[in-house]
Amino acid sequence: MDTVLLMKIGELVTLAGPARARRGAEMRELGILHDAAVFVSDGRIAEVGPSPDLEARHRDVAVTLDLTGKVVVPGFVDAHTHALFAGSREDELEWKREGLSYREIAARGGGIASTVKKTREAPDDVLRRETLGRLRSMLRHGTTTAEVKSGYGLSVDQEVRSLTLLSQMQDAAIEIVPTFLGAHALPPEFEGRPDAYADLVAGPMLEEVARKTAARFCDVFVEDGYFTSDQGRRILLAARRYGLDARVHADELTACGGAELAADVGAVTADHLVHSTNAGLKEMAARRVIAVLLPGTSFTSRLPYADARRLLGLDLAVALGTDLSPNSWIESLQTVISIAVHHSGLSAAEALTAVTVNGAYAVGKGGECGTIETGKRADLLVLDLPNHRHLGYRHGDSVEMVLSQGRVVHRRALPG
Ligand code: ZN
Repeated sequence: MDTVLLMKIGELVTLAGPARARRGAEMRELGILHDAAVFVSDGRIAEVGPSPDLEARHRDVAVTLDLTGKVVVPGFVDAHTHALFAGSREDELEWKREGLSYREIAARGGGIASTVKKTREAPDDVLRRETLGRLRSMLRHGTTTAEVKSGYGLSVDQEVRSLTLLSQMQDAAIEIVPTFLGAHALPPEFEGRPDAYADLVAGPMLEEVARKTAARFCDVFVEDGYFTSDQGRRILLAARRYGLDARVHADELTACGGAELAADVGAVTADHLVHSTNAGLKEMAARRVIAVLLPGTSFTSRLPYADARRLLGLDLAVALGTDLSPNSWIESLQTVISIAVHHSGLSAAEALTAVTVNGAYAVGKGGECGTIETGKRADLLVLDLPNHRHLGYRHGDSVEMVLSQGRVVHRRALPG
């Protein structure tokens, strides 16, 4: 049997607790054990407890890791990424510096449309290679599960291709949760006809995606200049008939009814929430919609930050995502934790809950990962930090080792 004993752990952050996303004040409860051990068998967590006990009972273990003075946390879950795309848009950084807005950049031929063109033109092997490179980098930074959206194809065939390629990347040691985002932007061939495109997404595109791909969620970009709340509702209700749960890009640039829509359709998450109304957030709390904050995008796009304290005060559950895309190329959730702690009002403990247990529930994997409890997948990170409160305090990479399903898949090279 494949067994591993992580022992003498200085601080073990288990996040043991109720089998659901943690809300409001619950996000501060980390379930910390000191001088602890985790016994892993066949890729699963078999036992968690005091190190001396487990060391005495598991002398015949195949691999032991002495983690004196280290912090061990669950593998991070990135609840929102657009990691599947071709090419890059570094030119736009110059335009941002000139003061151009997201919409002005799009009007100049940049933005989503430019990546749609590059992604459509990229052969399968190029799109696969570029995306895998990013996924592997995310893994090295501690992400063991990631939601990844389509949305740079924007035609029936191209959206199916994107989601099919994602399924073929499942062996990358990072678990991928695929989301269909046909309603990401209006493709050029539908210029001036947003309703016709929404009909295509809600009809033939969803039908093919449901039939041919493993998409788990359907997402819509509800925003002034993108899709209206009504178009979003039509698409998400159609998706539900195919068994795809809803997510919403909500209120990023304006208050456009995104939070209200997410509550109304019973979405699993509403994401961004920079400009949401109190009424919308309260409806989300009542329907248990998870709030996914993406402060990395506020940082790179020079937008205001969502106020996590306001959300926690309404007893919402908060998760975090990188929102990795060609507009905001962030592969590291540690970077996002730093930004969230400094600009969104989360404490280190709350941010850690957001990228573990709450991230797991936000991507429909709460039963599998996100906490260090018996039966869960052994997705574990060893952090070279004296305690978890150094997350967000130190800016940079603190992940020394990554275990995915009990296997060491990344180990930081020692200097020298
Ligand atoms: Zn997004």
